[in-house]
Amino acid sequence: AYEMIKFSVNLHRGCFGGCSFCTISAHQGKFVSSRSERSVLDEVRAITVMPGFKGYLSDLGGPSANMYRMGGRNEALCRRCSRPSCLFPAPCRNLRNDHRPLIELYRRVDRVPGIKKSFIGSGIRYDLFEKDDWEYLREVIRRHVSGRLKVAPEHTEDGVLKLMRKPSFALFRTLNERFGRICREEGLNYQLIPYFISSHPGCTERDMRRLSDETRRLHFRLEQVQDLTPTPMTLSSVMFYTGENPYTGEKVYVARSQEEKRRQKSYFFEWQKDRRKK
Ligand code: SF4
Repeated sequence: AYEMIKFSVNLHRGCFGGCSFCTISAHQGKFVSSRSERSVLDEVRAITVMPGFKGYLSDLGGPSANMYRMGGRNEALCRRCSRPSCLFPAPCRNLRNDHRPLIELYRRVDRVPGIKKSFIGSGIRYDLFEKDDWEYLREVIRRHVSGRLKVAPEHTEDGVLKLMRKPSFALFRTLNERFGRICREEGLNYQLIPYFISSHPGCTERDMRRLSDETRRLHFRLEQVQDLTPTPMTLSSVMFYTGENPYTGEKVYVARSQEEKRRQKSYFFEWQKDRRKK
């Protein structure tokens, strides 16, 4: 693990996304703590003299790539707030989601002598982009991507996404379209790599079939996928073990057997059958 992260820099801790299956907010907190620019730049300078460093930082990130210096405008309101997510079901109006401090930090890191390129390897939260503000995405595509940009829509079906506390898939379609447009404008042949989860509580085989159809229609060949492993302290685990949404008391379908889980996961790879038919 150390080999993987030794040339990467953590910019912040915590996450206010509140995804149902994730423990980050349970063990790092919902409020983001960001490092000072000075502290980050000192670490970057220290990395430049490490043995084996060739000028490439593998990641400038955190639990999510783009929550640096973000949080509530009115902190008193946040202290009284009981929302598990600042982004779901819709971004909070009190949330400061300005990407400029992060863009400025990327640029300062890239000016450090000895740095040839810094990559963004952490997942990007695209539900943090303002409706018409794609400057951050353009900056990342232009300067910080090795050819593949990872994002996590996690599913295509809104019923499942709601239980995951993730935004509608319509937002991913917009991102995909915008990503393609920026790449064309910049003359770059890059790929968007979406992550998906099968067997999340509420996800049926029909949902997986629809996921398969939708992602093939968008010409994705899925590879970054996982079958849910219920993790302690998460809402997903509560639903997995009880078969109920604890907020509403509604019954939730859960694929628990190995066979059900295997079948759900197999839908990720339907695109391989299309290829064989050709
Ligand atoms: S008030 Fe808004 S920004 Fe603050 S913690 Fe609650 S949801 Fe997040």
